[in-house]
Amino acid sequence: MLPIPKIESATAILDAFARPLRSLRISVTDRCNLRCQYCMPEKDYIWLDRREILSFEEIAELTAVFTRLGVDKIRLTGGEPLLRQNLDHLVRMLARNPQIHDLALTTNGMLLAQQARALREAGLARLTVSLDTLRPERFRALTQRDALDQVRDGLRAAHAAGLTRRKINSLSIRDFNHDEISDLIEFGRETGSEVRFIEYMDVGGATRWTADKVFPRAAILETLKQRYGPVQALDDLAPEKSSSEQKSSSEKTGVGDAINARSRARQAPPEGAHNGGDGTEHAGRSSNGRGTAKAPADRYLLPDGTAFGIISSTTQPFCRTCDRARLTPDGVWLLCLYAKEGLDLKRLLRGGASSEQIARTIAEAWRARIDRGAEERLHMASRGVLFQIEDLRRDPHREMHTRGG
Ligand code: SAM
Ligand code: SF4
Ligand code: SF4
Repeated sequence: MLPIPKIESATAILDAFARPLRSLRISVTDRCNLRCQYCMPEKDYIWLDRREILSFEEIAELTAVFTRLGVDKIRLTGGEPLLRQNLDHLVRMLARNPQIHDLALTTNGMLLAQQARALREAGLARLTVSLDTLRPERFRALTQRDALDQVRDGLRAAHAAGLTRRKINSLSIRDFNHDEISDLIEFGRETGSEVRFIEYMDVGGATRWTADKVFPRAAILETLKQRYGPVQALDDLAPEKSSSEQKSSSEKTGVGDAINARSRARQAPPEGAHNGGDGTEHAGRSSNGRGTAKAPADRYLLPDGTAFGIISSTTQPFCRTCDRARLTPDGVWLLCLYAKEGLDLKRLLRGGASSEQIARTIAEAWRARIDRGAEERLHMASRGVLFQIEDLRRDPHREMHTRGG
């Protein structure tokens, strides 16, 4: 047995490729009030057993173990996290943990109007609302619900409640909504939310994914260049700054330069890492040090200073600096979004294991981690979906709405 890890606040456990454990996405429910075609396209689902779902106390307890091991970034997600009753209570409990430097939430926005104020008051620091289209008929076709206005109301309420650090996540699908890239940028400006475009990924419930539906980073940049002029890439290692700071500190480049600079940066592995590289929805920031922003998106500026991001999980993954793990609503810990299996922490917790024992299990598993799911899939000769519907039905932990996206 290894000794119980003694972790100072400025250090973190490193995996087999020297990637620190810094970030945890906690899925608080597998239920959802939308049925996005790229995530939950089926009519029926196998749901997790309600008795297995972690209580808020259990989530806070496990989170405390993770933060003791160096995690300082927590994001609540789902399914739809706002369907979990009294989510603000959990936010309040987590906000009390002084080791959490970044407490965020990803939501589809449907219930935000009712909950924004309570979440803000409970201590939520950052908010991401997923919104892929601004056209009601497309929203209905995509999500099986006629609810675009509800999401817009939610964004307005978040603003009114003082949730100022907001982003909009927008998944671009070729021949479905790729013609809305500029409209979404305009909408982001109007609503004071930075937009991050996400490439369509072949994970979880995306059983209808095909490579030709991916609208890649290069195409997104080209679209924006055509509309607005040169796009400026932000420095890889610069901490996240406001748009005005970025304007004065970054060099202007064209789209081609931006892409070249990025791929040059990716060719050099971080010290101690293998040459494999990797990444999903996590743009790589190679520092292990506290205080260096590890934003999930590569960020850019339009000529007028409007910032936006691209999460090129499918075409340019960057697993090489991935510091992120996931916890399912029933306490299964996943080392990679693409992982087939996870580690059942709830069994340990409910079986009476001490927090030291749980910490030791987590540390051992992370040290052995060699996952780089998205990068491995890049090299597949013919790429299809990760899981077939039968695999998902056999183990719902493989669903995106269970593991949290
Ligand atoms: N229900 C909440 C929401 O939609 O924001 C939180 C959970 S959802 C699984 C988290 C994120 O995963 C969303 O931004 C969604 O767009 C993204 N997502 C789901 N399926 C995806 C896929 N196949 N490819 C890329 N992103 C996906
Ligand atoms: Fe859509 Fe999020 Fe629900 Fe999946 S979990 S169906 S992405 S709203
Ligand atoms: Fe991290 Fe896995 Fe995503 Fe790569 S695919 S960035 S290793 S979660």
